[in-house]
Amino acid sequence: MFYEDLSEYDYQDEDAFTDRESGFYALWYRPAYTRLNIGWLEAGRPYSTGTIPTVFVEKLKAVQEVQWMNVCLGVHECDLCPEDEAPEGNGEVRIPGGPGIAYAAPFLITHYVTAHGYRPPQAFIDAVLAIDLDTWAATRWPDVPFPWVPDDVERLLE
Ligand SMILES: [Zn+2]
Repeated sequence: MFYEDLSEYDYQDEDAFTDRESGFYALWYRPAYTRLNIGWLEAGRPYSTGTIPTVFVEKLKAVQEVQWMNVCLGVHECDLCPEDEAPEGNGEVRIPGGPGIAYAAPFLITHYVTAHGYRPPQAFIDAVLAIDLDTWAATRWPDVPFPWVPDDVERLLE
Protein backbone atom coordinates (compact mmCIF):
# COMPACT_ATOMS: atom_id res chain seq x y z
CA MET A 1 0.00 0.00 0.00
CA PHE A 2 1.52 3.33 -1.03
CA TYR A 3 0.33 6.80 -0.20
CA GLU A 4 2.22 10.03 -0.77
CA ASP A 5 3.31 11.73 2.45
CA LEU A 6 0.84 14.43 3.52
CA SER A 7 -1.85 13.30 1.07
CA GLU A 8 -5.29 12.91 2.57
CA TYR A 9 -5.91 9.56 4.23
CA ASP A 10 -9.01 7.74 2.98
CA TYR A 11 -8.12 4.11 3.64
CA GLN A 12 -10.69 3.65 6.42
CA ASP A 13 -13.77 5.78 7.02
CA GLU A 14 -13.58 5.35 10.77
CA ASP A 15 -10.83 5.56 13.35
CA ALA A 16 -10.94 2.75 15.94
CA PHE A 17 -9.02 2.58 19.21
CA THR A 18 -8.63 -0.56 21.31
CA ASP A 19 -7.95 -0.49 25.04
CA ARG A 20 -4.47 -1.96 25.38
CA GLU A 21 -5.06 -3.27 28.91
CA SER A 22 -8.16 -5.33 28.25
CA GLY A 23 -7.48 -5.90 24.58
CA PHE A 24 -11.27 -6.03 24.19
CA TYR A 25 -12.77 -2.61 24.78
CA ALA A 26 -12.90 -0.59 21.63
CA LEU A 27 -14.34 2.64 20.35
CA TRP A 28 -14.73 4.03 16.89
CA TYR A 29 -16.04 7.10 15.15
CA ARG A 30 -15.96 8.96 11.89
CA PRO A 31 -13.32 11.64 12.45
CA ALA A 32 -14.13 15.32 12.13
CA TYR A 33 -10.40 16.02 11.75
CA THR A 34 -8.52 15.64 8.48
CA ARG A 35 -6.09 12.72 8.37
CA LEU A 36 -2.82 13.06 6.46
CA ASN A 37 -0.83 10.03 5.35
CA ILE A 38 2.69 9.57 6.66
CA GLY A 39 5.08 6.71 5.96
CA TRP A 40 3.04 4.41 3.71
CA LEU A 41 6.07 3.09 1.83
CA GLU A 42 6.18 0.56 -0.93
CA ALA A 43 9.00 -1.01 -2.96
CA GLY A 44 9.68 0.89 -6.17
CA ARG A 45 8.26 4.16 -4.84
CA PRO A 46 10.82 6.81 -3.89
CA TYR A 47 10.67 8.16 -0.34
CA SER A 48 12.60 10.81 1.54
CA THR A 49 15.62 9.74 3.56
CA GLY A 50 17.88 11.41 6.08
CA THR A 51 19.06 11.40 9.64
CA ILE A 52 16.48 11.45 12.38
CA PRO A 53 16.94 12.43 16.01
CA THR A 54 17.10 9.31 18.20
CA VAL A 55 14.73 10.96 20.64
CA PHE A 56 12.07 10.97 17.91
CA VAL A 57 12.36 7.22 17.27
CA GLU A 58 12.31 6.43 20.99
CA LYS A 59 9.25 8.56 21.53
CA LEU A 60 7.36 7.13 18.56
CA LYS A 61 8.05 3.60 19.84
CA ALA A 62 6.77 4.60 23.26
CA VAL A 63 3.60 6.01 21.68
CA GLN A 64 3.06 2.72 19.86
CA GLU A 65 3.19 0.88 23.14
CA VAL A 66 0.31 2.84 24.61
CA GLN A 67 -1.84 3.60 21.57
CA TRP A 68 -3.56 0.73 19.79
CA MET A 69 -5.57 1.83 16.82
CA ASN A 70 -7.06 0.21 13.73
CA VAL A 71 -5.53 -3.07 14.88
CA CYS A 72 -8.37 -5.22 13.57
CA LEU A 73 -7.64 -4.59 9.93
CA GLY A 74 -5.07 -7.28 9.38
CA VAL A 75 -1.33 -7.53 9.20
CA HIS A 76 0.79 -5.40 6.91
CA GLU A 77 4.21 -6.74 5.88
CA CYS A 78 7.26 -4.62 5.10
CA ASP A 79 7.52 -4.51 1.34
CA LEU A 80 11.10 -3.20 1.33
CA CYS A 81 12.70 -6.14 3.17
CA PRO A 82 13.50 -9.52 1.58
CA GLU A 83 10.38 -11.62 1.86
CA ASP A 84 11.68 -14.12 4.44
CA GLU A 85 12.92 -11.34 6.74
CA ALA A 86 10.10 -8.87 6.45
CA PRO A 87 8.58 -7.80 9.76
CA GLU A 88 4.84 -7.43 10.05
CA GLY A 89 2.91 -4.65 11.66
CA ASN A 90 -0.67 -4.56 12.78
CA GLY A 91 -2.59 -1.34 13.02
CA GLU A 92 -1.78 2.30 12.62
CA VAL A 93 -0.76 5.36 14.60
CA ARG A 94 -2.60 8.67 15.04
CA ILE A 95 -0.63 11.75 15.99
CA PRO A 96 -2.34 15.12 16.52
CA GLY A 97 -0.91 17.84 14.28
CA GLY A 98 -2.07 21.40 13.87
CA PRO A 99 -5.74 22.34 14.47
CA GLY A 100 -7.98 19.79 12.74
CA ILE A 101 -5.07 17.73 11.38
CA ALA A 102 -4.04 14.25 12.53
CA TYR A 103 -1.23 12.23 11.00
CA ALA A 104 -2.07 8.68 9.96
CA ALA A 105 0.90 6.31 9.83
CA PRO A 106 1.16 2.53 9.52
CA PHE A 107 2.50 0.63 12.55
CA LEU A 108 5.67 -0.22 10.59
CA ILE A 109 6.73 3.44 10.41
CA THR A 110 9.40 3.02 13.09
CA HIS A 111 10.81 0.06 11.16
CA TYR A 112 10.91 2.17 7.99
CA VAL A 113 12.88 4.84 9.85
CA THR A 114 15.34 2.53 11.60
CA ALA A 115 15.83 -0.13 8.90
CA HIS A 116 15.27 1.78 5.67
CA GLY A 117 16.44 5.31 6.43
CA TYR A 118 13.02 6.86 5.88
CA ARG A 119 12.71 10.44 7.05
CA PRO A 120 9.14 11.58 7.66
CA PRO A 121 8.18 15.23 7.04
CA GLN A 122 9.45 17.63 9.69
CA ALA A 123 5.88 18.53 10.71
CA PHE A 124 5.32 14.91 11.72
CA ILE A 125 8.59 14.73 13.65
CA ASP A 126 7.64 17.91 15.51
CA ALA A 127 4.15 16.57 16.23
CA VAL A 128 5.52 13.36 17.76
CA LEU A 129 8.02 15.30 19.87
CA ALA A 130 5.17 17.53 21.12
CA ILE A 131 3.14 14.63 22.58
CA ASP A 132 2.71 14.61 26.35
CA LEU A 133 3.77 10.98 26.73
CA ASP A 134 3.19 10.79 30.49
CA THR A 135 -0.44 11.80 30.01
CA TRP A 136 -0.94 9.33 27.17
CA ALA A 137 0.65 6.49 29.15
CA ALA A 138 -1.55 7.24 32.18
CA THR A 139 -4.78 7.15 30.14
CA ARG A 140 -7.25 4.46 31.18
CA TRP A 141 -10.43 3.20 29.60
CA PRO A 142 -12.99 4.67 28.80
CA ASP A 143 -10.43 7.20 27.59
CA VAL A 144 -7.77 6.32 25.05
CA PRO A 145 -4.39 7.94 24.33
CA PHE A 146 -5.55 10.32 21.64
CA PRO A 147 -6.99 13.76 22.47
CA TRP A 148 -9.62 14.18 19.75
CA VAL A 149 -12.07 11.34 20.40
CA PRO A 150 -15.59 12.87 20.21
CA ASP A 151 -17.77 12.84 23.33
CA ASP A 152 -20.60 10.95 21.67
CA VAL A 153 -18.35 8.13 20.42
CA GLU A 154 -19.60 4.58 20.27
CA ARG A 155 -17.89 2.38 22.86
CA LEU A 156 -18.30 -1.35 22.81
CA LEU A 157 -17.09 -4.44 24.56
CA GLU A 158 -16.30 -6.72 21.67
ZN1 LIG B 1 11.69 -3.58 6.07
